[in-house]
Amino acid sequence: MPTRIKFQTSVTSAGIAVWLGGLLLALTACRPPALPHKTFLVMGTVFTVTLPADRADYLEPAGVLSANALYELENLLSFYRPDSDIGRLNQAAGAAPTPVAPPTLAVLRAARRYGELSAGAFDITVAPLLQTWGLRGGAPPRQPPAAAELDAARRRVDFRRLEIGNQTARLAQPDMQLDLGGIAKGFAVDEVARIMVKHGLTNVLLNLGGNLRALGASAPGQAWRIAVQNPFVPGQVLGVLELRDGEAAATSGNYERFVTIDGRRYAHILDPRTGRPTSGMAGVTVIGGGADAAMDADALSTTLFVMGIESGAGFLKSHFSRHAALFVPDRQPLEIHVTAEFAARFTPAPDQAGCIRLIP
Ligand code: ADP
Ligand code: MG
Repeated sequence: MPTRIKFQTSVTSAGIAVWLGGLLLALTACRPPALPHKTFLVMGTVFTVTLPADRADYLEPAGVLSANALYELENLLSFYRPDSDIGRLNQAAGAAPTPVAPPTLAVLRAARRYGELSAGAFDITVAPLLQTWGLRGGAPPRQPPAAAELDAARRRVDFRRLEIGNQTARLAQPDMQLDLGGIAKGFAVDEVARIMVKHGLTNVLLNLGGNLRALGASAPGQAWRIAVQNPFVPGQVLGVLELRDGEAAATSGNYERFVTIDGRRYAHILDPRTGRPTSGMAGVTVIGGGADAAMDADALSTTLFVMGIESGAGFLKSHFSRHAALFVPDRQPLEIHVTAEFAARFTPAPDQAGCIRLIP
């Protein structure tokens, strides 16, 4: 069961990186104190809210506001809770439309749009395939599933068979299942960001399991700085990324959640078009702005992980030209492929500078 907690992005300030869990990771010899932050577990991962050094007094309200919003969203969107909107939609698959809350409708609509734009590379009905590969709990199969079994699971996967009404939704086929694992955390981060703004908290960094969104600055005139982790070496940093007011970053990786079948590791992100776990990518980080910055980055990091470098970069150019991406292929020696817009924001760690490849 792929249950390890995801820790692949960390916050940096004035030359240090602060682990999400509070661990210090020195980038330079000097170690100023960590920025004030609060951490708790929600949605199966770690949430951290970070504030500028002189705003520690806002930490308590920022933590309470975040927790209230995130637990509420978890109650609506969790795949694992039978009484969540998603749980009820899954139980009612093939039956009558199910009334669901406005946030659920908003994520479902957005997810359908990513599905359409990506021609099915992103698909929130991928759960039956994940199950077949042992990526949704239970013991993994001894052998990779046979072609017939994959075909049977694939017939239960198609986001187009999710019907979305004004206040209801419905899966058109009884054996289908929704799973918002590739988008819900980003959506939740955007919601928390809106709540922070509403309460006048204008300089905040939010991080929900590698889905980050920045508001304002970490100090006057200073962007929030994010350390992108090396997918192959836990705790090692590939470089530092600058996030400006309103921008988000998300990472999808094959190194924290996976299943091992017959000695081979399979990533928890599947290509719905083939029915197989993706191979080829070790990590993808996406950054961008806009009203739904974190949700876009979350869905896009999953989508680009499926698409790979060439198609992924082309997809960004055609549909999300204000987003930028970093790709690390799953091979040695280490290569870090970046779009030009990503390169402009990214400072590679000194020993990784030689690994950077600009995507044409
Ligand atoms: P994480 O959940 O570890 O942050 P991602 O945001 O990349 O990573 O989402 C991966 C999750 O998305 C999987 O665990 C699964 O729930 C779901 N998923 C897997 N493959 C796809 C896909 N092709 N399209 C949409 N969702 C997917
Ligand atoms: Mg994602």
